[in-house]
Amino acid sequence: MEVFSAATRIGTGVAWALALPCCVGDAQVAPPIETAKRVSVSALASGYPDRPLEEWLVELTRVEPDDVSWEVNDCGEGGDGRQAPTCVEASVTRSPDTSIHVSLVVQSISAKTDQPEIWMLYATERGQVRVMQTLTDVVDYARRADSAVTGPCCFRQCAVLHPGALPFTVTPPPDGAPVMLWTHQICFDKSRDHSVSHDDPADIGRIPAGARCAFCAQPLPLIGKHAIAFDVGSFSPPHRFWSHPECLTEQLRESAIDDLSPLGPRRR
Ligand SMILES: [Zn+2]
Ligand SMILES: [Zn+2]
Repeated sequence: MEVFSAATRIGTGVAWALALPCCVGDAQVAPPIETAKRVSVSALASGYPDRPLEEWLVELTRVEPDDVSWEVNDCGEGGDGRQAPTCVEASVTRSPDTSIHVSLVVQSISAKTDQPEIWMLYATERGQVRVMQTLTDVVDYARRADSAVTGPCCFRQCAVLHPGALPFTVTPPPDGAPVMLWTHQICFDKSRDHSVSHDDPADIGRIPAGARCAFCAQPLPLIGKHAIAFDVGSFSPPHRFWSHPECLTEQLRESAIDDLSPLGPRRR
């Protein structure tokens, strides 16, 4: 059958990912992702609580369940699906350049449904992979990443001290020193106009022709009232955006505006 052979060619990863619960004999077999989400952490490593992996991971990394992506793959073993085990990998992105990954083998090569086991644990940080040995390493890593973060989110609609924070570095004109604030990706994304794309940071004093305000999407004055430059992200280079001063201050919390004293309407 054409559809089936196409799916087979794509590979078992896709086939599994698309699989609905299916039947072996009379028994319902959960798809691998469901199996992985529900496996008890206590069954993966001794000394851990009897809680579903998904719930535990969300709490550990302090994200929403939707922020964890689950993917079925061949455990990096290659092969045509009959010669490689099946893994489910949970990936938690905590900032654009940092993520934590828990990969479980959910089906061995013998194709019996096994108790899921830890296959690989790692984090990526600015493109570097850091392999971890045990769940305890993952816990330590997540906590260390938390403690490295300071400050509440600078956006008005959010009051959270964050894990997964992005530096938000504002350079007020004409020659004010850059001020570092913090934001969440989600808060920045909610506030910005998505039709405006970022530049790579170049000369802070030179506004590129055609630059638009990240918040109202209107053109920026090249002369006269200065546009504000701001860089988002700890990755290198960060994403450079521009804004009208009033558009930026409209989005920011009062305490954040105070940090940018030359900027805000509250300046006396
Ligand atoms: Zn926020
Ligand atoms: Zn604007």
